[in-house]
Amino acid sequence: MISVAIDGPAGAGKSTISRRLADCLGFLHVDTGALYRTIGLYALRRGIPTKDCAAVTALLPEVKIDLAFTGEGQRVLLLGEDVSEAIRSPEASMAASDVSAIPEVRAFLLELQRDLAREHDVIMDGRDIGTVVLPQATVKIFLTASPEARARRRFLEQQKKGMEESYEEVLEDIRQRDYNDSHRAAAPMRQAEDAWRCDTSELDFEQSVSVIAEHIREQIGNAEKEG
Ligand code: C5P
Repeated sequence: MISVAIDGPAGAGKSTISRRLADCLGFLHVDTGALYRTIGLYALRRGIPTKDCAAVTALLPEVKIDLAFTGEGQRVLLLGEDVSEAIRSPEASMAASDVSAIPEVRAFLLELQRDLAREHDVIMDGRDIGTVVLPQATVKIFLTASPEARARRRFLEQQKKGMEESYEEVLEDIRQRDYNDSHRAAAPMRQAEDAWRCDTSELDFEQSVSVIAEHIREQIGNAEKEG
């Protein structure tokens, strides 16, 4: 099986770029952030403080998450309910960032992610895919962009969806999540030593897809020659 790990900070375009790449290559796109968001959402709904390690851990045996892969991309089911839209709210984003710092939550989601990569050719995006989830990935990419470029994109995206956060709020949210994600003890976000770093601050979507697709094809070609 071939696996492409795409890690990087919030708003770097990982999900949209990964989805397009997966379509081009005929791979499954696995958006792992959705898993953390789903646990965050569940904790919020149950009224549990999302930073409370013991309380969130105690919820895990009740949580059942399924991923469904459709023509329109990945859908997430929480106890059978499709929560794919509900997990995109700013509250669920922050809750995801909180619960993702809890080692028990990360352990809970690890096998689910690895099983998908065992069974399918995947493009998996997240924060620790190249470092922890799939250290043997065929291709590793660290996708990044300046906080301002990321906030601008996310702000425009959210405006289209009718969400009302200001640019400043989006930027603050991105800075806060960057800080949380890279300073937590459990699997902090960092670039794997053997990952290729791609900064998309100055690239539009199509340009990003094209340089990354070229890199992936080249790496897959090299892996096939070696192996
Ligand atoms: O990628 P997305 O913004 O949807 O991820 C939501 C949150 O889930 C991130 O802020 C991060 O804290 C967490 N996450 C993680 N590890 C991953 C994917 C996401 O810790 N592999």
